[in-house]
Amino acid sequence: MNASVESVPITPRVPHQRHGAPDAPAAQPEPAANRGTSQVTQTVRAGIECGDATGCVAPPLHLSATFAFRGFAERRAYDYTRSGNPTRDLLGEALAELEQGAGAVVTASGMAAITVVGYLVPCGGRIVAPHDCYGGTYRLFDAWRRRGERQVEFVDFADEAALSAALSEPTALLWIETPSNPLLRITDIAAVARAGKACGALIAVDNTFLSPAWQQPLALGADLVVHSTTKYLNGHSDVVGGAVVAREPSLHEQLVWWANCLGLTGAPFDSYLTLRGLRTLHARLDHHGRNALTLAEWLQGEPNVKRVWYPGLPTHPGHDVARRQQRGFGAIVTLELEGGHDAVREFVSGLECFSLAESLGGVESLVSHPATMTHAAMDPAAREKAGLADGLIRLSVGIEALADLRADLERALARAARALPPRELSRAAAGG
Ligand code: PLP
Repeated sequence: MNASVESVPITPRVPHQRHGAPDAPAAQPEPAANRGTSQVTQTVRAGIECGDATGCVAPPLHLSATFAFRGFAERRAYDYTRSGNPTRDLLGEALAELEQGAGAVVTASGMAAITVVGYLVPCGGRIVAPHDCYGGTYRLFDAWRRRGERQVEFVDFADEAALSAALSEPTALLWIETPSNPLLRITDIAAVARAGKACGALIAVDNTFLSPAWQQPLALGADLVVHSTTKYLNGHSDVVGGAVVAREPSLHEQLVWWANCLGLTGAPFDSYLTLRGLRTLHARLDHHGRNALTLAEWLQGEPNVKRVWYPGLPTHPGHDVARRQQRGFGAIVTLELEGGHDAVREFVSGLECFSLAESLGGVESLVSHPATMTHAAMDPAAREKAGLADGLIRLSVGIEALADLRADLERALARAARALPPRELSRAAAGG
């Protein structure tokens, strides 16, 4: 750590007043707070007046790959950017503060963050993960399993008997991802973490879909929180990055060691942009959440929409748990259209406010079709088993004007309805 970074004090966290969107769920743990300020203030002031000698308010960007020694055998706080960089450290400290952890490592991608966590598992150690975790996580864990590097068991976390059977054996790492992608299944972090602890597992939660503004897994019993900062934390779809926040200093030390050893640390410019994006996290999420809830409520009444998944709807199977453990319901809305592929083709062709693209969490709205995009590699039978029908569409609801988003979707639904064969059309019109 150099002098400028040391001047950002890390003080004990104290609870502070509640904040959040007016439609945020009730009865969740209070947001993280530090130095007596609310989490909103922490995000806005992340990296501000960091103690640089110039007195700059916005933090400087240290792009240098290397740092000169003061003299022979006199190393400064930083020597080489893979091992440590002041701009990246500012982001790491901000994320640790927001998640209420002891420290964070900032990585080159969300997958790099997941890889670093995997290295905390000893060779041959056992990982239990949800069967519907993010596809990249599944691919990595499965590759480790097939190479004999780790034992991995993928389990349906909604099946209590299967989960408790999986957790009856010694386990090195229990992986949780909630809400899941794209069906937004909610896992009760506190309950599953308790079961994981009982079999000796480290508990890691991928918090990408909510960010610490809406969910703080360490307060619910997790040891590690993982983020693809590509999504809400940066929020502008111009950085690919990741982070792991550790509850304990000893875990943080191991993560720092592995991130440097494997060369997975993030680039300074990406850290700078992410820190900049982070400052508007709460303002963005308030808007994202309001738009998503309103659109989800409206979509579920539309005749050619078979079903809508959004944890903020009382009909969502995880609604009660989401209300308890989250401070916002998220901004991903998944829907199934009548008419499968053909209807989806019409729906996405001609959208003006939703870009047909993978990823999520940027200020701009995106639409994706899991069957031909994120989950195209799965064979159709496996996709069907996982509930990923051909008519399924995932919306990453942005912060554009709600009226524009809704009008765009209304036109898309009208186009999709025209693709329905006459029999389905009359069923849809009758609300069947
Ligand atoms: N975790 C989740 C839940 C994701 O959705 C993603 C990417 O979409 C990742 C991890 C991987 O992040 P990245 O693409 O930044 O490597």
